[in-house]
Amino acid sequence: MARAKSNVPQTPEPHRPHVVIVGAGAVGVAAGLQLQLAGAQVTLIDRGAPGEGATYANGAVIGEEHVVPVATPGVLRQLPRMLLDGKSPLALRWSYLPQLAPWLWHFVKSARWSEVERISVALSDLLDGCMGAFTPLLDVAGARDMLRKTGWLGLYETRAGFDGYQRSLALQRRRGVRADVIPAAELRQLEPALGDTDRFHAGIYYPDVGYAADGLGLVQALARAFRQQGGRILREEVRDFEIGANGPKTVVTDRGRHPCERLVIAAGAHSRALTRRLGSDPPLDTERGYSLTLPTPGVRPRMPVYSTERGQVCTPIDAGLRLAGTVELAGLDAPPDWTRADLLLENARRWFPDLDGTGAARWMGFRPSMPDSLPVISQSPRFANTVFAFGHGHCGLMLSARTGELVRDIILDRPTSIDVAPFRVDRF
Ligand SMILES: Cc1cc2nc3c(=O)[nH]c(=O)nc-3n(C[C@H](O)[C@H](O)[C@H](O)COP(=O)(O)OP(=O)(O)OC[C@H]3O[C@@H](n4cnc5c(N)ncnc54)[C@H](O)[C@@H]3O)c2cc1C
Repeated sequence: MARAKSNVPQTPEPHRPHVVIVGAGAVGVAAGLQLQLAGAQVTLIDRGAPGEGATYANGAVIGEEHVVPVATPGVLRQLPRMLLDGKSPLALRWSYLPQLAPWLWHFVKSARWSEVERISVALSDLLDGCMGAFTPLLDVAGARDMLRKTGWLGLYETRAGFDGYQRSLALQRRRGVRADVIPAAELRQLEPALGDTDRFHAGIYYPDVGYAADGLGLVQALARAFRQQGGRILREEVRDFEIGANGPKTVVTDRGRHPCERLVIAAGAHSRALTRRLGSDPPLDTERGYSLTLPTPGVRPRMPVYSTERGQVCTPIDAGLRLAGTVELAGLDAPPDWTRADLLLENARRWFPDLDGTGAARWMGFRPSMPDSLPVISQSPRFANTVFAFGHGHCGLMLSARTGELVRDIILDRPTSIDVAPFRVDRF
């Protein structure tokens, strides 16, 4: 029997914009899930698997204290010495210098205290609530236990290192970061896993910092939730875009062509090759970093322990102890220098003398780095339907959920929770 037609007027389905996001790293996946939850239809395209770019084996630290940019007058002063010392936290492949020169020039210009102050305000706005921003995403993913708020402990081996950090500490405190100076003799009360504390001058404890038990697992959990919410993930390499009356209308990959109404470029350190095709050429480069994951370290610190002097962190992740950090300026193509990874173990044994390095897994990742330490979270100046979200440097995991919120709001023409002008792609 035929059903009687209803006379009730049907409200039209709201339009669900189709968004293509290039890059399924921490940033792309968080933006994808935020957009999918807000009602958009999202396709993530990545040539690899979600999270296997720069997040794969990173330090996994999440916290609001990262308000001091990398470029400061203090870092500039130390630069010549660091570049000559093979064991310093910074290395440069001299053959890469000509390509790096524009980035370095902006880095040097950013390293004035007036700039550092301005940048730290923008960083602080972005970092504020960065851990809490994961909560709605982790709830959807059923993975709330992924984040641990333990605090983290900075160790200073020398008086000079500690004194040299005081201006940065004052800056952090001006931005509202909670930090306690811990005398050397009290360090083991806070972190019993430490060896002989005579070798330290002092520590700084930040109670509001934490870490992801498994950074890669976190991105994978969000990617699964994204799929469950109806999002699509394609494993293809993006090569080009076709431009229509309203901006990019097709994403061209090695496998085919995908229509898009809105486009997000979140391809980490590889984003510049894509934004150039869209008329924007930001000074994005990479600060390569290394890690070692020790499956049976024999010690388990309560919290991530790090050293600014050595540029590395030791994080007690679920898979063991992750030693991660240092910076190598060598671009995207040079092969890894694994002595940089091995240095992490040598350094960590200063703090944990009995550390067992058996079965250590080495890794190198490409931090997507802007010279002023501010990411790009920006509408394309040329195409209103396109948003750029990359360049998060040392903070891409911790900032991914916050960035996802901002990308969602820009794409859906909603007011953003903070002023995004400092993150414009054309600020240089
Ligand atoms: C040693 C080390 C330690 C770190 N420690 C921390 C830490 O403790 N806390 C923290 O918050 N951050 C840390 N970081 C930084 C953080 O890992 C990065 O900032 C973050 O992973 C960047 O995420 P992303 O999504 O922007 O880029 P990625 O994770 O690199 O994702 C970009 C994706 O784009 C894809 N892609 C690129 N080009 C194309 C293309 N043409 N077509 C298709 N796909 C493409 C790539 O395959 C990749 O999956 C660390 C980094 C390193 C290297």
